[in-house]
Amino acid sequence: MSYKTGCLICGLELNYLATDGKLRCEYCGKSFVADACCINNHYICDRCHSLAPNDLIEQYCRTTKLKDPNRIASTLMKNPQLKMHGPEHHFLVPAALLAAWYNKHNNPLMKDAAIITARRRAEDIKGGVCGSLGACGAALGTGIFISLITGATPYSKEEWRLANLMTSESLKIIAENGGPRCCKRDTFLAINAAISYLKSHFANELSIEKRIICEFAILNPECLGEECPYYGH
Ligand SMILES: [Zn+2]
Ligand SMILES: [Zn+2]
Repeated sequence: MSYKTGCLICGLELNYLATDGKLRCEYCGKSFVADACCINNHYICDRCHSLAPNDLIEQYCRTTKLKDPNRIASTLMKNPQLKMHGPEHHFLVPAALLAAWYNKHNNPLMKDAAIITARRRAEDIKGGVCGSLGACGAALGTGIFISLITGATPYSKEEWRLANLMTSESLKIIAENGGPRCCKRDTFLAINAAISYLKSHFANELSIEKRIICEFAILNPECLGEECPYYGH
């Protein structure tokens, strides 16, 4: 994959600039004097280059202005800090959804607070729970998302119903697509279950720009190939 050597945002090659102008980091939004960016002007600062997976997800989701959760998630997936499979996807799902939701509603303060809480909750979900507990962490991530936007607690009535129903709908779709687990497929299935759920239960639409085609099949020996809804052409 070109993302291994080229730009982490778009995969295109990096150019070394003759001038030392300031460039804005795609992940943290801060400006730095830099000497390289890709031909689309994407630049990532040294600090963001070495962030741990959940730090990177938090940083980018708090900075980005994108309103498409699929695009937010797939941009982060291209970063080598996010492994093909791993529990960071449990945080990726609610973080991408919360970023898109609060960007759409133009509420950066609520967004920051919700993403920080989502991270704390998602970090309680261990790797491999899809197989060991029968509850995929990406699906639980959609429950975290609905819990946060509705303010659900264990004592709530309607909010409690909405959060649990969200998780069950994501789990059903993920289960019906079958194993073995793929953290990319299950992340996209969960995010898109949440998009449909917002439409039917909140009369609220998040914009999705284009059809998702998975760019990671080559990295996954257990890829379902043509049986996966995101297997790409
Ligand atoms: Zn780029
Ligand atoms: Zn940065």
